[in-house]
Amino acid sequence: ALYRSKNGGRSTYTWYESSMDEELERRRELETEMIRALKLDGFSVVYQAQVGLADNKLKAFEALLRWVHPEKGRISPEVFIPIAEDTGLIEALGEYVLKKACTDAASWADTSLKVAVNFSPAQFKTGLIEQKISEALEESGLAPERLEIEITESLLIADTTSVVKSLKKIGNMGVSIAMDDFGTGYSSLSYLSRFPFNKIKIDRSFIMNIGKDAHTDAIVAAIIGLGRSLDVLITAEGVEEEMQAQILRAGGCDIVQGYYFGKPSNVDPANPHANVRCTLGTQEAKQIEAAYVG
Ligand code: C2E
Ligand code: CA
Ligand code: CA
Repeated sequence: ALYRSKNGGRSTYTWYESSMDEELERRRELETEMIRALKLDGFSVVYQAQVGLADNKLKAFEALLRWVHPEKGRISPEVFIPIAEDTGLIEALGEYVLKKACTDAASWADTSLKVAVNFSPAQFKTGLIEQKISEALEESGLAPERLEIEITESLLIADTTSVVKSLKKIGNMGVSIAMDDFGTGYSSLSYLSRFPFNKIKIDRSFIMNIGKDAHTDAIVAAIIGLGRSLDVLITAEGVEEEMQAQILRAGGCDIVQGYYFGKPSNVDPANPHANVRCTLGTQEAKQIEAAYVG
């Protein structure tokens, strides 16, 4: 009951119910199975394209963790990540994703492509995060400029001074830092001035209503304006329709990500551009155009 109250945003109370025992049991079971999956290569990483709106070109891929349970089937990261965070397993899991993403990105034929990796606040607790990142870069041979880490605002609320220190060190390594899910948390402007960000990702909940609701359009325009003034890039997530991309382009958004441009999937190292909806290099585009006209 205590944990339920804490997760419910504190300052609340929860009566104990027997169903909580069952939930706790279920979480324990998943935890044990995650430990096994980590040992037996049961996790994998898929990649979702991020496309530049100005030139319609593929810029990066976001690494997303996947777990297919031998009996239960696919389990969403929205279910297992919070359990991993509570139990401390996120450290090992995070390290797995980081290493895999760096190694995979280093194998892509197009070396201009970046890779973005999600980090949980719990991964910042040990103070070893900078070390983990530099190890992963060194082992994979990936240039630091090709790695981006995605963090959420909740990280900034927890322990400001040590987190700022870590983020600055990570930034100084040449790795870029993106603020994920922007607009869903406190969105405190004072955070933005204190932390070394390179990018803001506007949450999917805003993009969903873009072009349908004047308030949402105004908020999205304001966030894009904020990005301009702070000299950081703006990414819109959850773009599912052409119309949304058009509105975002007109509004001056830099990068888009969503099912419209590509679902999270495997990347062919020899041809990372395959299956991504964006303009090809000018050479290929001319060839296709010529074939079409001819
Ligand atoms: P996120 O970082 O906001 O990731 C984007 C989520 O939105 C992904 O869900 C992605 O599949 C989904 N998505 C992308 N485009 C669209 C779209 O056009 N429409 C809709 N409806 N959804 C879209 P996924 O992969 O299930 O991941 C959910 C969350 O789990 C992530 O949200 C992230 O918070 C967390 N997560 C995933 N992988 C990792 C990881 O390696 N480490 C950590 N710490 N968290 C992770
Ligand atoms: Ca993310
Ligand atoms: Ca997000």
